[in-house]
Amino acid sequence: MPAITGKTKLLGVIGHPIEHSLSPVMHNAAIGNLGMDYIYIPLAVEPENLKLALEGFVSIGLKGFNVTIPYKESIIPLLSEISPIAKAVGAVNTVWRTENGWSGTNTDVAGFLSPLQYSRINWSQSLAIVLGNGGGARAVVAGLTQLGCSEIHIFGRNQEHLQAFHKSWENSRLPLNLSIHSYAELPQIISKAAIIVNTTPIGMYPYVDDCPISMEVMEKIREGTIVYDLIYTPNPTKFLHIARSRGAIGIDGLEMLVQQGAAALKIWLQHPVPVDVMRNALRYHLGLPVW
Ligand code: NAP
Repeated sequence: MPAITGKTKLLGVIGHPIEHSLSPVMHNAAIGNLGMDYIYIPLAVEPENLKLALEGFVSIGLKGFNVTIPYKESIIPLLSEISPIAKAVGAVNTVWRTENGWSGTNTDVAGFLSPLQYSRINWSQSLAIVLGNGGGARAVVAGLTQLGCSEIHIFGRNQEHLQAFHKSWENSRLPLNLSIHSYAELPQIISKAAIIVNTTPIGMYPYVDDCPISMEVMEKIREGTIVYDLIYTPNPTKFLHIARSRGAIGIDGLEMLVQQGAAALKIWLQHPVPVDVMRNALRYHLGLPVW
């Protein structure tokens, strides 16, 4: 990593908690590789201090920052403008300073789509299943809509949350064909899916021995179905391991993490970024083989 001097420009990530963020690992690896005079730091912000923190960032000359849980939605009213994709998703994960104030966008959607760009699926005739209805599911729904999926079926455990999720898309202007379901309905539809995306934390610590779908229902997944888990550690999750053993095409969440980060860094630096360096820094950090 290059030396930090009085001229070093600041980037960072805000969240609460922020201790476990992997973003500094990949961003500082890329910055070091480029030899640019920047540093990317984790910034813990208490919920009642979000507005104050943004004012402080102006006064210390922070160039830009990522936004993670729980601020991806609550930061929006504090920004002077947001991109159409952030507006459609209803969440911002990347912020940068302009003459008019802070601008925000959402790079999670591009990150989610990145591993799917080479698939030869005819998306316009494809049914998608999304497990969970939280923040990650919002980027997934926007991404699946961009692909042109004919139907998107959201499965959740809480009817109230599911209905609020469904309603939240009403003014998005996206051409959505979205329906909501309880998990009890999954066995009837799962074999029709071209893609199944897990956006719940089931499979990550402390649920590493769990799978978001029962074994009985997993058996109904068609061979060749894309099974995408947003979780990146453990790698693979139990869900992906079982799906692959049944002939599904498994995609883990690491590439989404790398690509959303690369897209954000490109915005801040206004320079091409070394995606391979970012990916390998994360893989090394997570104890995965590096190539
Ligand atoms: P979130 O906003 O808290 O949403 C989590 C969703 O999972 C909610 O719908 C929640 O249901 C559901 N859920 C939680 N525990 C559950 C359980 N025990 N059984 C069934 N459903 C459960 O979280 P998020 O930000 O979307 O993140 C979810 C996962 O995606 C995390 O593992 C995160 O690391 C991963 N992620 C990865 C990336 C990436 O770049 N790869 C990006 C974003 C997220 P309720 O609504 O009923 O509470």
